[in-house]
Amino acid sequence: MNALTWNVFSGGTVTIDLDVCTGCTTKACLSACNVPNLGSALTRGDDGLPALAISPDRAAKGGCIECLACDLACAADGLGALSFVLPTPETDAYLDALRTAGDAPGRGW
Ligand code: SF4
Ligand code: SF4
Repeated sequence: MNALTWNVFSGGTVTIDLDVCTGCTTKACLSACNVPNLGSALTRGDDGLPALAISPDRAAKGGCIECLACDLACAADGLGALSFVLPTPETDAYLDALRTAGDAPGRGW
């Protein structure tokens, strides 16, 4: 997979499958990314595909504010090439406690 990946401040990761983006006519993620006072973290690269408008280091320090606007725009008007993996420690701990108690998700949920 030809992927664009960057880390974000929460410890998560954003990945765009650029192979999918080649067939996308809207490039909706690009217009969706417009952070007040920071500008856009995404831009159109020389190849016409999404690219980071800022350095990966700056993106990881908060230049990408994890607003999910690109993800929603891609789901609504793009081809679903974008994925977020964000840490959810409280939810993980809650689910671990349920499993320990023998009440695993999927039973009666
Ligand atoms: S909207 Fe989705 S599929 Fe289209 S260019 Fe952006 S990430 Fe790729
Ligand atoms: S999460 Fe928000 S700031 Fe980060 S790339 Fe997507 S739209 Fe831009």
